[in-house]
Amino acid sequence: MAYDAKIPYGLRDDRLIHVSQLSRGERGNRCACVCPECKSPLTARMGEVNRHHFAHAGGNRPCAKGAETGIHLAAKQMIADNLAIPVPLLQATVEGKNSQGYAVRESMLIFRGRDRQPVDKAQVEHHMGNIRPDLIVTLAGVEILIEVAVTHYIDAEKQQRLEARGLRCIEIDLGDIPRTVTPAELASYVYDQARAYWIVNPKLAAAEDALRPKLLQAIERENARIEKARQERADEDRRQREHYERMEAHYLAMESVAAEKRRKEEEEKRQRLQRERQQAAEDERRREAAEKQRQQQAWEHERQLLDLNGMRRQAQGIIEACQRLETHWQQAPMPSQYTLPMAKRHVPRALSRMEITEIPRALATSIPYDWLYGVPPQEWKLVAFLEEVYTHGRLRQEEWIPILGIERCLSDFGYRPVRPLHLATELQNTAQHYRVLGDDSSMLALAQLPKPRDAIAEFLGELASCSGSQC
Ligand SMILES: [Zn+2]
Repeated sequence: MAYDAKIPYGLRDDRLIHVSQLSRGERGNRCACVCPECKSPLTARMGEVNRHHFAHAGGNRPCAKGAETGIHLAAKQMIADNLAIPVPLLQATVEGKNSQGYAVRESMLIFRGRDRQPVDKAQVEHHMGNIRPDLIVTLAGVEILIEVAVTHYIDAEKQQRLEARGLRCIEIDLGDIPRTVTPAELASYVYDQARAYWIVNPKLAAAEDALRPKLLQAIERENARIEKARQERADEDRRQREHYERMEAHYLAMESVAAEKRRKEEEEKRQRLQRERQQAAEDERRREAAEKQRQQQAWEHERQLLDLNGMRRQAQGIIEACQRLETHWQQAPMPSQYTLPMAKRHVPRALSRMEITEIPRALATSIPYDWLYGVPPQEWKLVAFLEEVYTHGRLRQEEWIPILGIERCLSDFGYRPVRPLHLATELQNTAQHYRVLGDDSSMLALAQLPKPRDAIAEFLGELASCSGSQC
């Protein structure tokens, strides 16, 4: 307890003596002071090294609060001796909250405060019923309670009692000052309004009551301002939103117009294409009609140029030629219509046994015309094979006979060209095409002649039945 052992004040005859107030002769046990707390004898330590102080005299157990009690008592005695107190700032403040939860304050300065205020009267340890303050001072007829706090501070219960009785009370806070304080230092701590504060003061409550309406007004103004700002923000938001909506509507309208324009363009394009197609079809119809008309005109022109008498003469000539052939065949050594019997004799074997797998190349490529008019080349070649020209043996040995040889063979076998029949058909076709000579007797006679194809078909049919019956 070395700290507490250094005591600045000792008590002598109920007066507080600071160690610095001792003379050199009063050092040590001659100081005649006792501890302010435990009242046991003190010794004054007044050496050269440490700051001078009291300590509990030898053999006495040091108490815990000798220094604090001494300071407390010295401060009280200082105020009573000086008839002066520190007066703290007296300012009423009320506080509320605005609609956003932030604090709003209203303050009123009642007294600016003073470090050292002379008083008329100071009483120490004076009772006021159940309240026992350190001091009661009187200033302009008003009593003010003074509490000096070193280790003990006023609690809430005592504050309520003071308040209930409408008293004024100042507390001086010396809790943190050095325990080795000198009287001059103690005076500077005591008379410092920053260390003093009002525990209660009726003026404070009255001022707070007066401030509350102002506070409410301030809060209302604040809330109105907040509401106005909120409204302005909402208005701005709404204006923005409306602006965007207008913009969007504008763009949608533009888009709609563009879409309508595209649709119209496509429709126009479709109609134009349709018109062009119709025009092309119309042109084609006209062209075809013109072509038809041209053909008709050409046909009529050609019809006019026809040599009808020449055609009659030609028809007459064909009929006469056929009659001559008929006569010739009747007088021939081996008379036969179209020499079919002749062919039969020269077919010694069945067609099915011919075993012809392919047409000799010489025949397929080098015969420039069909000797028998109207007979398909294939059939004509078959006829040729049926003759002795291409025997089975010759085919096997691939012995080919020149075309002229084939013609000679066919001639030898009695085949005759059917050119008169071909010419007759040609003449008939021409007359029919131009619709002329429909009732001419010569032309009617031509119609009675056998047709080349009919003649050939008859011939082939006989060949087939011949081969089937092994004739
Ligand atoms: Zn003591």
